[in-house]
Amino acid sequence: MEEPVEFPVCGCGILAQLKTSWSIDNPRMRFFGCKDHGSLLHRAYRFFSWFDPLMTPHARVVLLGLLKRINKNEVQRRKKRLCWFIISVVCIVMIWFV
Ligand SMILES: [Zn+2]
Repeated sequence: MEEPVEFPVCGCGILAQLKTSWSIDNPRMRFFGCKDHGSLLHRAYRFFSWFDPLMTPHARVVLLGLLKRINKNEVQRRKKRLCWFIISVVCIVMIWFV
């Protein structure tokens, strides 16, 4: 069972939210950030704290490689599905008009 998460409070008084990073440097790493960090008031506090422990450079390279492989497989799968869809449509049209 996971430990309950203690959410820190930003300097602006708002409870921080748990978010996920999608940056290349820190893929899928979770961090605490202010809910409204885009506004001028909250930008001044720049509240930020990692939730997940930082990865070693080696672990980061391995994770990035795996993510690239997953994305490549997903693109190939979508291309195959599109190809089969086009073939199906062409077959249906040919059956109707022949
Ligand atoms: Zn804030």
